[in-house]
Amino acid sequence: MAVKVNHSKCIGCAGCVGVCPVLALTLEENKLSCDASKCIDCGACIKICPFGALSKGDSK
Ligand code: SF4
Ligand code: SF4
Repeated sequence: MAVKVNHSKCIGCAGCVGVCPVLALTLEENKLSCDASKCIDCGACIKICPFGALSKGDSK
């Protein structure tokens, strides 16, 4: 699974990167990406993002 990143909302603050328990989130040149092979869909990053840039992915 993986969270979806809305890149028009994400400002690259990195706030979500540290809360991911499986280190699935990485920020490179202000662009956040989620490693679908690591993400366990716990939702922690979705809750922490102050800009509502993350949402649940719809694929398994
Ligand atoms: S907390 Fe939100 S705005 Fe900050 S890097 Fe993560 S997705 Fe982007
Ligand atoms: S949903 Fe959980 S496991 Fe997936 S990227 Fe967000 S914090 Fe990490």
